[in-house]
Amino acid sequence: MDPLVDAWGREIKSVRISVTDKCNFRCTYCMPAEGLEWLGRDEILSFEEIARLVGVLARLGVDEVRLTGGEPLIRRDLPTLVGMLSATAGVRDLSLTTNGVLLDRLARPLVEAGLQRLNVSLDSLNHVRFAEITRRDALDAVLRGLEEAERYPELRPIKVNCVAVKGFTETEVPALAELARRKPYVVRFIEFMPLDADQAWHEDDVLTGGEIRAIIEASHGPLVELPAKASSTARRFRFADGAGELGFVNPVSEPFCSSCDRIRLTADGQLRTCLFSRREWDLKKPLREGASDAELTQLLRFAVRHKELKHRINDPGFVRASRSMSQIGG
Ligand code: SF4
Repeated sequence: MDPLVDAWGREIKSVRISVTDKCNFRCTYCMPAEGLEWLGRDEILSFEEIARLVGVLARLGVDEVRLTGGEPLIRRDLPTLVGMLSATAGVRDLSLTTNGVLLDRLARPLVEAGLQRLNVSLDSLNHVRFAEITRRDALDAVLRGLEEAERYPELRPIKVNCVAVKGFTETEVPALAELARRKPYVVRFIEFMPLDADQAWHEDDVLTGGEIRAIIEASHGPLVELPAKASSTARRFRFADGAGELGFVNPVSEPFCSSCDRIRLTADGQLRTCLFSRREWDLKKPLREGASDAELTQLLRFAVRHKELKHRINDPGFVRASRSMSQIGG
């Protein structure tokens, strides 16, 4: 079958699937303390519906699947879905992004079900600062979850993702960089993007990858850049002495849209061709109205032909995405 290619010639290889909009954290750069209005149970795609869409996408060459949220581990029986997706023909790479607080209990069943890679969000190794940014006193539970994940060599790489916010993250950088040296985790710093539900984001809040690298290089000397695959969102580095790997995801200061191979599926079955889409394509309705795989394929091709060239965060008149991060899933 012909691959899924957008109007700019980019082939879609990766789908990020939000399995719930709910989360058990309240990160200040993501959602308000009181949370958001959650989707109703019937609005959310079932495991069977997700697996069906993944099967159709895999036949179009979309062989990388990442599960996200909200917080995906709060969706009941998630290992069952992981098992269904890892058994789907054409799915080559299956990963998950989590805040890690339930990982110590779920790492084993997820690995046994076929999970291959893991991204854990972690913005501070200081208990007080961690609670300040997540509004949860849960650092120890997240670190326990990471330790539990370490026990499964088949679950690699383990990436630790830190959202970098100016005026907060600078003091967290040295300890997180050190974590990459002493643990088998790839520590990545992600620039803060205008996807917060409070709509408080301002470009002055962005601590750039370049600024973070300068903080690290001030104490560790120049980092050595590593090769990365063309569609990778991160620039990869290691320390000069070889210990540890760091990543810098710089969507604001160094956009990587030209090689974007990603689409997203929201928990309520809407296809987003870009993180910053202002338009969505409803897949749930045709799914529930009995559309054939051929009809779904046609709809996917049509949507991808309309995939945005790039985000316009740095452009005058930038208009925010139609949903916040927790309603899209990273
Ligand atoms: S902003 Fe949109 S086009 Fe750019 S990399 Fe992200 S998803 Fe792709």
